Amino acid sequence: MAERVGKMDQKAIYTVVELGKNSWRIEENGVRCFLFAGRETALLVDSGYGSGDLAALARELTDKPVALVNTHADGDHTGNNAQFGQVTMHPDDFPKYREDEPDGIVEPVRDRIDLGGRKFEVIHIPGHTPGSIALLDAENRILVAGDSVQAGMIFMFGKGRDLGRYIQSLEKLHGIAGRFDTIYPSHGPFPVYPDILPPLIHGAKQLLAGELPPLPAPFDVPAKLYDVTVAKILY
Ligand SMILES: [Zn+2]
Repeated sequence: MAERVGKMDQKAIYTVVELGKNSWRIEENGVRCFLFAGRETALLVDSGYGSGDLAALARELTDKPVALVNTHADGDHTGNNAQFGQVTMHPDDFPKYREDEPDGIVEPVRDRIDLGGRKFEVIHIPGHTPGSIALLDAENRILVAGDSVQAGMIFMFGKGRDLGRYIQSLEKLHGIAGRFDTIYPSHGPFPVYPDILPPLIHGAKQLLAGELPPLPAPFDVPAKLYDVTVAKILY
């Protein structure tokens, strides 16, 4: 896979890794965005922290018009939203988004996104946030999972998080795991695979039942860290 640093004025803010024809992951200091181009349009999944010119980078990668979808409204996924003309997310994250971006223009994401020759199904997976979504590219057997499925640190403390709904959403994804082989997470090791789901569900259930020992959080947050073997959960 070709790897290169975006030719930006700012030095080395983004690292671009080609994932296949017309697919890229864009790494920005611990968070990851994705760009997929079809015959007619391109889809940017999340806009990162907002520390660089992501719209210019997307234009370098594709000549198709770029629409932005947010997997959820956490600030490390929406930082550059203002650079894009069309921004969509699940409406259940609108209240959270408007707390950070009172003037931000955002539309409800549709159930299906068709770029021309490349399609995504939008799957509502509340829990990490009320409006978290995953994007399923069934033809290429890829699930773009946001923060909800990853081998890094999953934030489940604070306003709007719901561990019970999160477990239900993981079970929903496990129920359709026959439709994807690869999971693209927003943080941590890339990629992960559907076999992460059963131990993640098991660990989250143990956490909800109070069966896991709390560890100190690695930074200053009002939460404890829980090791669920395949990931860590801050709760
Ligand atoms: Zn995140």
